[in-house]
Amino acid sequence: MCSAARFNTWRLQVCPHDSFFNSCRCILLEKQSQLITGASQGNSALLHVGFDAKPGTVEQQCVREGFSLMMHLHKQLHVPVKRVGALIIAWEQEQLSKLADIVRLAAENGVHNCVQLTREQLLQREPNLSPLAQGAVYVPDEAVVDGWLTPMSYAAQAVANGAVIRRDFEVTGGMP
Ligand SMILES: Cc1cc2nc3c(=O)[nH]c(=O)nc-3n(C[C@H](O)[C@H](O)[C@H](O)COP(=O)(O)OP(=O)(O)OC[C@H]3O[C@@H](n4cnc5c(N)ncnc54)[C@H](O)[C@@H]3O)c2cc1C
Repeated sequence: MCSAARFNTWRLQVCPHDSFFNSCRCILLEKQSQLITGASQGNSALLHVGFDAKPGTVEQQCVREGFSLMMHLHKQLHVPVKRVGALIIAWEQEQLSKLADIVRLAAENGVHNCVQLTREQLLQREPNLSPLAQGAVYVPDEAVVDGWLTPMSYAAQAVANGAVIRRDFEVTGGMP
């Protein structure tokens, strides 16, 4: 059962008995005076499905598992995810010849719903696109998130489950 927690001026949903945190004691040490000042505050906010990762790599495994976890967690926390899909567009003949490989790579990565679109199908879907487009691969599951709210809701979730956050707290060393 979720309850709401106030975190700065945002009202965020949190789940106080999250099984992930049950067995952990966590502390987040942040050298800045505020959270979300690093890469997370200025990224493109795309939730990748992992269609183009290199198969068998740690990155591919993390992106695939992260996608499922985030979809589940965002639903639980009422943090918006918009499954808008993505188009990988070929602008030149050489790029056009590689689209089939992208669909094959996606399938190898377990993403089976990518489809190759002809130029006509693409322009029908996106009529405002430049007519110079030659074709595309459509990736239906790619999604966008709120780039700031997403990490902030994770921090709130951690605090609701007993984690501690210290700001203005730089880590200067560590021991194994
Ligand atoms: C331009 C750009 C676009 C991107 N687009 C996407 C995208 O669309 N989708 C996607 O999934 N990923 C994207 N990424 C990657 C993504 O943003 C990062 O992988 C992610 O933000 C990393 O999160 P993080 O918490 O590890 O690092 P950060 O968000 O950078 O957080 C690290 C924190 O550690 C703090 N810190 C650093 N040193 C210390 C210290 N010694 N002591 C205490 N605190 C310290 C920093 O102040 C910072 O707050 C993009 C990255 C960039 C640069």
